[in-house]
Amino acid sequence: MSIDDEESSTSVTKNLKKVVKRKYDEDYIKYGFSWSGDETAPRPQCIICGDQLSNESMVPSKLKRHLYSSHPSCANKDKQYFKRCLEQNKNQKKFMKSAVTVSEKALEASYHVAKLIAHQKKPHTDGETLIKQACMEIVRLILGPNEVKEVNKVSLSADTVKRRIHDMSSDILGTLIKKLLSAEKFELQIDETTNIKIKHS
Ligand SMILES: [Zn+2]
Repeated sequence: MSIDDEESSTSVTKNLKKVVKRKYDEDYIKYGFSWSGDETAPRPQCIICGDQLSNESMVPSKLKRHLYSSHPSCANKDKQYFKRCLEQNKNQKKFMKSAVTVSEKALEASYHVAKLIAHQKKPHTDGETLIKQACMEIVRLILGPNEVKEVNKVSLSADTVKRRIHDMSSDILGTLIKKLLSAEKFELQIDETTNIKIKHS
């Protein structure tokens, strides 16, 4: 094999290895596709079912195939239709996200207050009758009525407080047992290494 041949074969391999990254074209919305992920190698995302295809599938034929086979009833819709769907999806996502964050925060707050009640050795009923009422009054005066609604979502009934305290104490117990068990293993390992060293020397 001559040097020239070798060079040309190397360059061919190089070209083959070079992956083509396909870009999203605004026009693809007519196939019911938006995009997601990395901007340099976007992945087509179906506006109707949310499916993500690979970057390689960012070509009209493949997008069209998904539209026709998965959503035949939408095959004849125009760009405006898909744009409206996309807008709706975005609004829904925003709504879902805020709903999730609020309930997660309310849950977290409920645990924090239960911990306070346990630390201060106060009756479980204080959560609902005193702490929540006080918080709602403070928030109403300082922030306003809408924010009071959010505070009201924090569950602090005597039963809830009792359950939270129980959850936290069993979690602590579980962690302690885990630590003890892993600590025992750790000791055994030290013994083993010590033994091995003694054997070798
Ligand atoms: Zn789809």
